[in-house]
Amino acid sequence: MIRLSGPDALGITNSLLHSELNLEPRKASLRKIFKPDSNDLLDHVLVTTFPGPRSFTGEDVAEISCHGSPAVVRQLLDLILVSGARLAGPGEFTLRAVANGRMNLSQAEAVRDLIDAQTEAAAKQAARQVNGELSNVLRPLKDRIIDVVVHLESALEFVEDDLPTVKMMVLQESLLGVSEGIQRLVMSYKAGRLLSGGAKVTILGSPNVGKSSLFNELVRSDRAIVTDKPGTTRDTLTETVDLKGVPVALTDTAGLRTTTDVIESMGIERTQRAMNEADLLLVVLDSSMPIDKAEEELLTLTSVHRRLVVNNKCDLIRGESTQNGLNVSALTGAGIEDLRIAILATLQDGAVDNGAALLVTNARHHDLLVRAGREVDIAIQALGDRLSEELILVSLHSALKLFGEITGETTTESILSEIFATFCIGK
Ligand code: GDP
Repeated sequence: MIRLSGPDALGITNSLLHSELNLEPRKASLRKIFKPDSNDLLDHVLVTTFPGPRSFTGEDVAEISCHGSPAVVRQLLDLILVSGARLAGPGEFTLRAVANGRMNLSQAEAVRDLIDAQTEAAAKQAARQVNGELSNVLRPLKDRIIDVVVHLESALEFVEDDLPTVKMMVLQESLLGVSEGIQRLVMSYKAGRLLSGGAKVTILGSPNVGKSSLFNELVRSDRAIVTDKPGTTRDTLTETVDLKGVPVALTDTAGLRTTTDVIESMGIERTQRAMNEADLLLVVLDSSMPIDKAEEELLTLTSVHRRLVVNNKCDLIRGESTQNGLNVSALTGAGIEDLRIAILATLQDGAVDNGAALLVTNARHHDLLVRAGREVDIAIQALGDRLSEELILVSLHSALKLFGEITGETTTESILSEIFATFCIGK
């Protein structure tokens, strides 16, 4: 679909159609587009117009759905560019929507998150935020700060009167509520970040312990090469799996070595790099074999990292395993569900997402909320210490400004362009 926005959008679209027929707003109509100065049909297209301000950007918008071949799109695009349009920058449609007050900044960022969402649960959170839920949660907090600001400012005007203790306590109570509200949002980021950003999980272990088999079992696909010969999986493989809504990029490092000494061949440095890039390591051992020296080294090396020790091939041993860790069999599937649960639980590390609450999913929002919370806490402390109203107001005004940066009211041009640069073109 080719989308045009701006004062000439409808004029340019009409000129392509060579038709006197007026397009009815917000109704798709089937039209023909011819090559310029000829009767050669370029394409049958569906055209929909959205006269401003009732459009995504708030400007006149036209959407032309054509047949998707690059040749058709290219010719159509050239025709439109010749007619006076220019290509949009990354996120420019959404930027204009923000500039024209059709949505606020946090909603615009959620548009990008929705486009980038890798799992259903991540898409659901983003959709809620496109809908303005974050701003709705922030508004009452903001209103309470404004209320306190008004009280303090009017106290300032009547210099003679000190704030009565009772009143001071009421204001403090109100700010405590704000602080708690902010804290709740800040805490939700742990689960929110996992949902939107996902996590990296890397499988490590000696050759032939069943890493690729485990990888396959977790990914439920046959992309990794499973073989009896050690060291034949050439590259590292990464697949994203959906662990109850959390997109987990699972990497199989089987191809990183050809000899039996895992650390020697992979190199401490390389192992460390793989470790450092991962949010969680799965250190795979073969339950049917005693732990050898290389594995001992690997266990020592990874002990400082977040990891799960996985005893694979548990089908080969009778009775209870004596090794510590999770017993699984990539062959029979035994223990795999428990492993999935353990991976998720370790990644979540106490972060709960019951699917009902709004989660802060954006690092920028989280940072601003942490800072706003700090300012509110300073104000609470200052109120308790009976410091001057001016001082307390400084903190509260800072908190309001930080809130405003989330929704874009007080965001600078440079931050705006930084944010929209992360959008894809055409959004
Ligand atoms: P990698 O080198 O660590 O990636 O190991 P592979 O996944 O290639 O597996 C090596 C061999 O162990 C293959 O023959 C697999 O079929 C076998 N294998 C993997 N997992 C299991 C398991 O849970 N039980 C048994 N019995 N064999 C397994």
